[in-house]
Amino acid sequence: MAFDIVPLIAGNWKMNGLRASLDEVTRLKDLLKTGAASYCSIAICPPATLLAAMSTQAAGSGIAVGGQDCHQAASGAHTGDISAAMLADAGARYVIVGHSERRADHGETDALVSAKASAAIEAGLIPIICVGESEAERKAGLAAKIVGGQLAASIPDAAADADFVVAYEPVWAIGTGLTPTSAEITAMHDNLRAQLAARFGKKGATIQLLYGGSLKPGNAREILAIENVNGGLVGGASLLANDFFAIISAA
Ligand code: PEP
Repeated sequence: MAFDIVPLIAGNWKMNGLRASLDEVTRLKDLLKTGAASYCSIAICPPATLLAAMSTQAAGSGIAVGGQDCHQAASGAHTGDISAAMLADAGARYVIVGHSERRADHGETDALVSAKASAAIEAGLIPIICVGESEAERKAGLAAKIVGGQLAASIPDAAADADFVVAYEPVWAIGTGLTPTSAEITAMHDNLRAQLAARFGKKGATIQLLYGGSLKPGNAREILAIENVNGGLVGGASLLANDFFAIISAA
């Protein structure tokens, strides 16, 4: 991990969690009081139904909250959607955009992800922009090309003057228990860093580049030690405070 970039460990609760699940945040707050993870930025992206309550609960603890998606428009006739400003109003600091489950389940394109990231920036949120190749693409030797293309097209020009985060999440590693080798993660993150530097200059060297996909307490230390891995986006292992804290501590 590059030590001039403060790592971010962000939890993605996906469509999991009822109000009782907020007890995990209480547990995490207690664990964080030990000071074992003071170097790290921490965020949890719960379902939208829990966002405001979690934001209130997490106040003053160092745990930021985030949305899992936002609409690209500021407001309007979009039944069931949530705007970036609404997330910010509920206490969010971050919003995930372009998660592979949104790309697959809702047909989200790079252009739409870019528009969502712009909307997030406009609302004062930090977008966590996700990219990642499928298993077939990796097997065909296309991972670098696909992910590089997604990165170029999913980050809006507005990001040049704003905070944003990139998460590399190989689709085949999400929720499967599989992970790329350290050499594969290194190669991908080095490529992404070079691409960000080429587009954004000095700022490109400071953008947090997260790894996501079956990040667990057992592999976190090795993966988070890789140069150009500046934290993680964590799905399943973020649901339980003990597991999430172990990953935070590894960073
Ligand atoms: C994710 O969906 O962002 C993710 C990384 O999931 P998991 O950690 O469960 O693989």
